Amino acid sequence: MDIRIERTKTPKAKPADETKLGFGHIFTDHMFMMDYDEGQGWHDARIVPYGPIELMPSAMVLHYGQEIFEGLKAYRTPDGSIQFFRPEENFKRMNVSAERLVIPKINEQDALQALHALVEVDKDWVPHIDGASLYIRPFIFTTDPFLGVRPGEHYYFMIIMSPSGAYYSTGINPVDIYVETNYVRAVRGGMGFTKTGGNYAASLAGQDEAHKQNYSQVLWLDGVERKYIEEVGAMNIMFVIDGEVVTPSLQGSILSGITRKSALELCRKWGMKVSERRITIQEVADAYDAGKLDEVFGTGTAAVVSPVGHLKWGDKIMEIGGGKIGPVTQRLYDTMTGMQYGKIPDDMGWIEKL
Ligand SMILES: *Cc1c(COP(=O)(O)O)cnc(C)c1O
Repeated sequence: MDIRIERTKTPKAKPADETKLGFGHIFTDHMFMMDYDEGQGWHDARIVPYGPIELMPSAMVLHYGQEIFEGLKAYRTPDGSIQFFRPEENFKRMNVSAERLVIPKINEQDALQALHALVEVDKDWVPHIDGASLYIRPFIFTTDPFLGVRPGEHYYFMIIMSPSGAYYSTGINPVDIYVETNYVRAVRGGMGFTKTGGNYAASLAGQDEAHKQNYSQVLWLDGVERKYIEEVGAMNIMFVIDGEVVTPSLQGSILSGITRKSALELCRKWGMKVSERRITIQEVADAYDAGKLDEVFGTGTAAVVSPVGHLKWGDKIMEIGGGKIGPVTQRLYDTMTGMQYGKIPDDMGWIEKL
């Protein structure tokens, strides 16, 4: 694929204090863009200065939400080089999302080429301090100016990038999670297994309620029986029950996280008992009462693994691990972040150098 590169004439100052990056506020100097037009396919790949795009008020994406996205990071290693963690998985998953939302697929090799080319152009934006990274957001949406309901005939594929601070700047703090029993996020047959804005729109009311009660994230239950555990806002969830790692199986309503997949592969490699199956919130509560709920943690690109400190289900509050990170959670965190930041050898073939 030919990528035209137009460099900015007014580069921005890089953030002076990398301890204060936060998440998703600052954007690099450039972005990747490519167009899709029916009959022509994807074309006109280009890297251009980061800035506003033109869209008609009638653009279908604004009305019917035909869009998908991905999230991954570029990491800087101690020798200054830059690397990715399983980036091909992101574009594979993007095509799974594309199929469900009737969005034209991208060529995964072209998408990887675009990723490398864009990070190369903005490589000085990859943060240097430990735990910070360059968050990368690929996304596709329809642009057709039309109010009828149908799949679009015109799309943009874009990649934007944002230097982000360490998720755990003050050490790994457990998160408090609220089990949502009123709202649901997705059902089997819906779009729960895709990364699309609509799933997040559906989650906001529950998230809002959780925040009002001083919980930082929502644990979703299945939309039919309201008893099987699904996932957390933007993380998959895992339980260590009596030494066994248990996580909800992928049945169409939850996202197939790359961190989830990697954590399971590592646990299996370490000889742990691992099961992907349906698990009810009642089973978790029973394990807690029996003193067998050893660890609970979320997995996702943002935090890698995130220990759960409190789990609130109705009137029941489960306090897990005494506010500390458990041994499985810690080992997964150390191994995955160690590989990502180039501090331990990658014996899984997961690291891709820029
Ligand atoms: C992105 C996301 C995850 C985590 O996926 P990773 O590939 O591990 O980052 C989990 N759940 C939802 C709903 C997500 O959007």
